[in-house]
Amino acid sequence: MSEFDQATLERVHATSHDQRARVMLSRVAGCFFCLRIFPATEIDDWLHPGEDGLGRKAVCPYCLVDSIIADGSGHELTTDLLKAMKAHYFWPDDPSDSGREAAGFGHDGGA
Ligand SMILES: [Zn+2]
Repeated sequence: MSEFDQATLERVHATSHDQRARVMLSRVAGCFFCLRIFPATEIDDWLHPGEDGLGRKAVCPYCLVDSIIADGSGHELTTDLLKAMKAHYFWPDDPSDSGREAAGFGHDGGA
């Protein structure tokens, strides 16, 4: 499970910020939230527009989360890499968060 060390994950993650040019040059992209790998041409939504009005950060066309890694990230784009990224950035070792949102709903039905 430790195929990817933290330095590798951080290096790959760093390529996901100002990534428009990189994604445009890539053939495939992957999402480390829903773990899909798909043609980079499927990306249609972008966040964080710069001065030119073009977004810098790709949005996943499947889950709409801005957690896209392009194949130009310096590391082979594999499901294993995406899983390691997800574990590192979305699920740090803190299980106490689970269920918190669900518990917060259902208390405003007074109308
Ligand atoms: Zn996704």
